[in-house]
Amino acid sequence: MELVWDDRMGAYDFGRDHPFQIRYRAEAAHAIEAERRAAGREDASAPVAPAEDVVLARFHTDEYRAFVRAMAAKPGRGLLDGGDTPSFPGCDVAAARIVGGTVLALETVASGARRRAFAPGGGLHHAHPDRASGFCIFNDAAIAIATALRPGGPYRKVAYVDMDAHHGDGVMYGFYGDGRVLDIDVHQDGRTLFPGTGAVGETGSGDGAGLKVNLPLPPGAGDGSIGPLIRRVAVPLLREFRPELLVVQHGVDGHAADPLAALEYSDGAYADVLGQLVGVAEELGGVPMLVTGGGGYDRDAVARVFTSAARILEHGPPHVGAVVAEEPWVETTTRSLERELGRTFPPGE
Ligand SMILES: [Zn+2]
Repeated sequence: MELVWDDRMGAYDFGRDHPFQIRYRAEAAHAIEAERRAAGREDASAPVAPAEDVVLARFHTDEYRAFVRAMAAKPGRGLLDGGDTPSFPGCDVAAARIVGGTVLALETVASGARRRAFAPGGGLHHAHPDRASGFCIFNDAAIAIATALRPGGPYRKVAYVDMDAHHGDGVMYGFYGDGRVLDIDVHQDGRTLFPGTGAVGETGSGDGAGLKVNLPLPPGAGDGSIGPLIRRVAVPLLREFRPELLVVQHGVDGHAADPLAALEYSDGAYADVLGQLVGVAEELGGVPMLVTGGGGYDRDAVARVFTSAARILEHGPPHVGAVVAEEPWVETTTRSLERELGRTFPPGE
């Protein structure tokens, strides 16, 4: 597992009063590095350069990139969207460095240097081609997918699994009609949480029809929802699609300690989900995995869950998982999805 972190990513800073704190990711990255050093691993993270404009242009429009540059050149704070995402001096470079990290993680797995890479600074899944949204200036996950699939790029089929509490709208709409991208997104129901999208009925269009899979959950869903849904729906879809690359947005804001969302997952639920994804990637012949960070607004939960994720990516899933009772909405959500996709997801193996 390659850890991609550079302390200069700390410049992605909206201020101490803002819920998104890049320092939580920094602290998690430092904890992972310390654990690896203690285990005798000497390979520190490589320096991460800001992504070049030509890379950002794989997902973002010329007008939007110029707007971010113009806002970044102004003194003091401004706003890049309706209110959630401030601009600050140098925000263009800071955001481009986050993208640089996720793209470096992609290059690390694409080169075969590592099977799995973790970029905890990334996962800024709300940014759209032409606008900032939800604390996300540039969409590193979408740019990495576009980079993987570009003409002459390393991959032809990419699966994206988004476990952030919020729907990954920037990524999903960015590839809504793209048949090369399977997008599976488990999130808190858009009727109860930003950004409001990600209904079961949003299943893709054109070549992408049936390949965008939304699993909205009610507030309070808990561990008995996400793990069972991944087992019942995501794993079979991944087996059928057989991606050449698996991108995972590992947002931690579904955690019970998180102040912004209400999904009430425990640390164990995250380990279960990532463990299942590592398991299916291995079963499919060692599909390379690029894992990003994402949301996560409780400092301790971010540190614990990210260090646990790094262990799973390094050593594989823990062998003993907690057995949790399945919540009733696993069945309800699966049934709705079955109707939308015109297929079944039978329970059990
Ligand atoms: Zn989120």
